[in-house]
Amino acid sequence: MSKTDSKADFYETLGVARDATDEDIKKAYRKLAMKYHPDRNPNDKTAEEKFKSIKEAYEILSDAQKRAAYDQFGHAGVNPNMGGGFGAGGAAGFGNFSEVFGDMFNDIFSGGRGGGRGRSAVYRGADVRYNLQISLEDAARGVEVKIRVPTQKTCETCHGSGAKPGTEPEVCSTCKGHGEVRISQGFFTMQQTCPKCRGQGKTVSSPCPSCHGLGRTKDTKTLTVKIPAGVDTEDQIRLSGEGDAGVNGGPPGDLYVVIYLKQHEIFQREGADLHCEMPISFAMAALGGELDVPTLEGHTGIKIPAETQTGQVFRLKEKGIKPLRGSMTGDLFCHVVVETPQKLTPRQKELLREFDDILKEHPERHSPKAKSWVEKMKSFFSR
Ligand SMILES: [Zn+2]
Ligand SMILES: [Zn+2]
Repeated sequence: MSKTDSKADFYETLGVARDATDEDIKKAYRKLAMKYHPDRNPNDKTAEEKFKSIKEAYEILSDAQKRAAYDQFGHAGVNPNMGGGFGAGGAAGFGNFSEVFGDMFNDIFSGGRGGGRGRSAVYRGADVRYNLQISLEDAARGVEVKIRVPTQKTCETCHGSGAKPGTEPEVCSTCKGHGEVRISQGFFTMQQTCPKCRGQGKTVSSPCPSCHGLGRTKDTKTLTVKIPAGVDTEDQIRLSGEGDAGVNGGPPGDLYVVIYLKQHEIFQREGADLHCEMPISFAMAALGGELDVPTLEGHTGIKIPAETQTGQVFRLKEKGIKPLRGSMTGDLFCHVVVETPQKLTPRQKELLREFDDILKEHPERHSPKAKSWVEKMKSFFSR
């Protein structure tokens, strides 16, 4: 599961220095995200992968806390249990079975909430993480989702004792059922969870064949999760008591549903704001006009002024998202891209050439940028 090890450096992915400012990182991300966005590179797997890694790098480096963790520990610092959960899709939104259960067994056996002397240890069940992918629209409006999660139930064969039917668990010979042992070292006496019974106080010599002595078996359950409007990637919804069952009567753990937003085909979300690319025709850019732009609720008309250039940004107030925390609805930023016409007919080409010839009569008036660029080039080469 640790494909994280072979992962590229996040700074290299964004092409920024390790001491880059937040602004630099944002700029680099915006530029690369535009370039590799799946909309601009349909059916291009390489671009899609690249886009994903850019997004991931940005998610870490744009968050001060995560960036610090990444600087100190590398990928291990920011991605300890994420494994393949993201994008698993379908009914199995979790990383995988062993990830979820692996955490649980660690919790049980390393946890120190031991019971009293002579009694079996009581442990709270483990918390379980469930990675849930939802659409941007659902995240903005809120939604109710049914999920199937792995859980544990008391083993039906041994009724939780862990012992093979017909046999009984025995008192642990190492700790005499205390669940703890004392270790003396010089002046010091330390108390430690019994290594043989792992704090249970009992051992099973013939384990139950159904649960292999654990007293519990794997199961799944269906839960309804209410996702509040405004959630974003990495927000967590805690379902109290829906984690794994406790041991020896201990309370159950909690279930954490961790939200991941699917890539939207039009909008990119940044906190409460949305960004989108807005291709306009060369003629509209020059003459101005009215344009229908999509919003999360539908669409709205905006006025494109004459002489609009690529890279210009139109801000639509409060057409973003109302975040879960905070009351301000974000804005929608439309980034203009002037589209060069394609597949021109001979007639259209002829008109353009004629148009260009007239334009060239007064280049400083009609194309001041190109004009001054040409001048700079000339002086550069004559040096
Ligand atoms: Zn059993
Ligand atoms: Zn023991």
